[in-house]
Amino acid sequence: MQFDPPSLEQLLAGNAHFVASEWNPEDSEREALPRLKLAVVACMDSRYNVEKVLGLNHGDAKIIRNAGNCIDDGTLRSLLVAVHLLGVEEVAIMGHTKCGMTQIGRGDFRIAHNIAQSTGVPLSEVMRPDFQRWLGGFTDPEEHVLRSVALLCGHPYFPKTLRVFGLLYDNETGLIRALA
Ligand SMILES: [Zn+2]
Repeated sequence: MQFDPPSLEQLLAGNAHFVASEWNPEDSEREALPRLKLAVVACMDSRYNVEKVLGLNHGDAKIIRNAGNCIDDGTLRSLLVAVHLLGVEEVAIMGHTKCGMTQIGRGDFRIAHNIAQSTGVPLSEVMRPDFQRWLGGFTDPEEHVLRSVALLCGHPYFPKTLRVFGLLYDNETGLIRALA
C-alpha cells in the first residue's frame, strides 16, 4: 500500500511524539563507536531493516545503505572513517534477492527518461556515455556482493587484518546466506 509523502508538520509531530514517549537521554551519552566493531553495507531497499534481520541492536554497527549496496565513493568514504577512526574491524556487505538495481543493469532507461521529462534537461545530455555505469546497476546480486568483497579486500587503504564478508538476504524468506 502506498501513501502520500508526509508534510514537514507531520514529520515534526512524529518527532515530538518520539521525544515524549521513546527518547532515551542515555542515547546522547552513547559511545559514537559501534559496539561490535562492525560495519554493514546494505541496499536501501525498504522491505527489510538491516539491524533487525541480523539480530543487532541500535549502536552495535555502522549501517551504510545506498541503492544496490554499492562500494561507491560515498560508501568508501564512510568505511574509511569507520575503520580508521571508529574502530571497525569487520565489514559485512549484504545484498538481497529481487534488488531493483538489477533492472538498471538490464538497460532500464526509466530514470534517464524521468529526469529529462521532469526537469527539461535534454535526454541526450542525461544519457552521457557512462550514465548507466554511474548509476551502479548489476544483473546478479550475488556476484555483485562478491565483487564488492574482493574490491574491499584488495583496496590499498584498508588494513589486511580487516575481515570482509558477503551476505545475501532472501526477500522471500528473510533468511541470510553467507557468500564469502
Ligand atoms: Zn536493492
